Amino acid sequence: MSKKTVLVTGASRGIGRACALAFAGAGFHVFINCSTSIDELNAVGSSIDRLGGTYTAVVGNVGVSADVADIFAQIYRECGSLDVLVNNAGIAHIGLLSDMADDEWNRLIQTNLSSVFYCCRAAIPAMVSKKSGRIINISSMWGTVGASCEAAYSAAKSGVNGLTRALAKELAPSNIQVNALACGVIDTAMNGQLSAEEKRELADEIPAGRFGTPEEVAALALELACAPAYMTGQIIGMDGGYI
Ligand code: NAD
Repeated sequence: MSKKTVLVTGASRGIGRACALAFAGAGFHVFINCSTSIDELNAVGSSIDRLGGTYTAVVGNVGVSADVADIFAQIYRECGSLDVLVNNAGIAHIGLLSDMADDEWNRLIQTNLSSVFYCCRAAIPAMVSKKSGRIINISSMWGTVGASCEAAYSAAKSGVNGLTRALAKELAPSNIQVNALACGVIDTAMNGQLSAEEKRELADEIPAGRFGTPEEVAALALELACAPAYMTGQIIGMDGGYI
């Protein structure tokens, strides 16, 4: 494939969808993933078509090692290697840690942290072979400062930040850059359970006075994919000044 390639996990909506459209608009062939249905991905694909871009839909749960192996087998059949990996898929869990069941903890960690491990492990060998690649992890400001009633989520995103910093050192000799975006509150379905009043109160706590948009995160992810190669191992805040 002559075009540059990117895999965006969790691309059926929200930040992942915006990343898929931004990369497609910039001329990348985009592998779009989600765990639920091909129809959701094809809806994103229609938007990519309208931009004149190209895509392949790859359904699979990135929190499951075997699914990630299948996703990468499909990618490598089509194009041999990836130029950019955007680890975006994630879920939230709100509640007291003392009330959290084992399976809720495991699902949260698998989806938000193990997925990043599985996808990086699958992407790295081909990137090392060609001595080039970019890994962009969508993290959260709660991974830096912690959020009450989101302990598991905060732990998972702290894990993503640690993995980002360590992997950046491991892969710098192979000219592969690994960075993370520590997002603040972004206007997506993940915050859909908040009432209009709760949203207003939360926005008042943010110096920018509003939630971020998925398109703003996507624009920075695209810039990171093209940033000078000397920048690696960074956890970049995208939070309207919150932290
Ligand atoms: P969203 O709920 O709108 O979208 C999440 C996407 O991930 C969906 O496409 C969903 O189908 C997919 N997904 C979920 N589990 C998956 C799995 N196991 N395998 C494959 N796909 C899966 O959420 P969003 O706000 O767009 O979040 C995207 C990323 O941004 C997440 O990692 C999230 O933690 C992070 N983030 C979001 C916010 C925010 O305020 N929205 C803040 C900080 C960080």
